[in-house]
Amino acid sequence: MIETIDIKIGQTAKSRINELDFDNIPFGRVFSDHMFVAEFDNGVWKNFEIRPYEFLSLSPANTILHYGQSVFEGMKAYKNLNGEAILFRPLDNFIRLNKSARRMCIPELPEELFMGGLTELIRKDSQWIPDRPGTSLYVRPFIFASDDYIGIKPSDTYKFIIFTCPVGAYYSQPVRVKIETEFSRAFEGGVGYAKTGGNYAASLYPAKLAQEKGYDQLIWTDGKTHQYIEESGTMNLMFVIDGKIITAPTDDTILKGVTRDSALTLARDWGIEVEERKVAVAEILEALKAGKVQEAFGTGTAATIAHIAEIGYDGVDYQLPPVEGRTVSNKILAALNDIKLGKAEDKFNWIHKV
Ligand SMILES: *Cc1c(COP(=O)(O)O)cnc(C)c1O
Repeated sequence: MIETIDIKIGQTAKSRINELDFDNIPFGRVFSDHMFVAEFDNGVWKNFEIRPYEFLSLSPANTILHYGQSVFEGMKAYKNLNGEAILFRPLDNFIRLNKSARRMCIPELPEELFMGGLTELIRKDSQWIPDRPGTSLYVRPFIFASDDYIGIKPSDTYKFIIFTCPVGAYYSQPVRVKIETEFSRAFEGGVGYAKTGGNYAASLYPAKLAQEKGYDQLIWTDGKTHQYIEESGTMNLMFVIDGKIITAPTDDTILKGVTRDSALTLARDWGIEVEERKVAVAEILEALKAGKVQEAFGTGTAATIAHIAEIGYDGVDYQLPPVEGRTVSNKILAALNDIKLGKAEDKFNWIHKV
C-alpha cells in the first residue's frame, strides 16, 4: 500500500494554453502551465509543491552547472478514446530513475513521491494533453545536485522536478543512420545504462560529424572493439532478419528502454522469435549486402518506433526495404497505439489511469 504525500498546489495566474496551436506542435519547446518540485535536504525529500512553470534561480557555483550530477526520465501521457488521461508504464520509469540515481550517488525517490507528484501534475495540466493522432504530452522528471560548492563530492542537496510538454511526432520520416566505429558512447563499468546528462553531452560531437555527412543519427558500437552494435542515439535498436527480431542485450553499456521491452513483449506474445544477443557489425553488414535485413528500427519514448531507411558503414550506404512492407515494426507501432488509446486490451497492465 502506497501512502499519499502532501503536495502544496499552486496555480498559474494566467494559463498559456491558448498560445498553443494543437495542429502544429513543435517537439520539446512548449511547456505546460505547471511543474512539480521537491527538495532533498538533511537526508530527506520534502517541500512537495506544484507551482507555475517558471525559471529556476541558481548560484553560479551550483555543482550541477559544473560536474553533471543529474539523472532524468522521459515518458508520455495520452488521452484515450474516452478522453481519459493515461500514462504509459510510469512505474518502469520510476524504477529506472532510481537505478540511474544509485549510479550517480543521487538519493533515491520513494515511489509515493514519484507517482504522487506525477499524477497530481498530469491531473492539474490535463488539458495540455493533445489528442490528435501522433501527439502526446511528454513528461520529463529529473533530479539534480544543487549544492553551492566547487569541489568534487556528491551533493548534500538535490531538486526533483517534473515538467511536461505537448509534443507532435519526433521523426516525421524514416532515418538515415551511420555505424560509428571511432567514437564511443559507453564502456563496461561506465554509466551507459544510466539516463544521466553527461552521456548525451558526450554524444553530441560524433553525432554532429555524422550529421554533416547527411545522417540523422549514429548506431553506437561497443567502446572496446567497435565490432558489436549497441544502440542508436536515444533509442534501442532492432533488426528483423529471416522473420526474427535481433537486438543487443541491455547490460551496463546500453540503456534499458521501456519501449524496447514493450516491443519485445508484444513480439514474443505473437509468436515472433526474438534473439537478445550480441549483434556483430559484420553480421549486419553481411545481411545488408545479401538484402536479408527486412527491417531495422529504433525504439524509444520520443519516437516510439523510428524506421531506419539507410545504414552507412565505412562510406557505403545500404538501403533498407520500403517502410510500407515492414510488417513487424508496423504491427508493434499499431499495437502500442491501440493499447494507449484504449482500443486494444491492456494485457500486460501498461496503462496507468491518472
Ligand atoms: C531513453 C533512452 C532510450 C529509450 O528508452 P525508452 O524507455 O524506451 O524511452 C534508449 N537509449 C537511450 C540512450 C536513452 O536515453
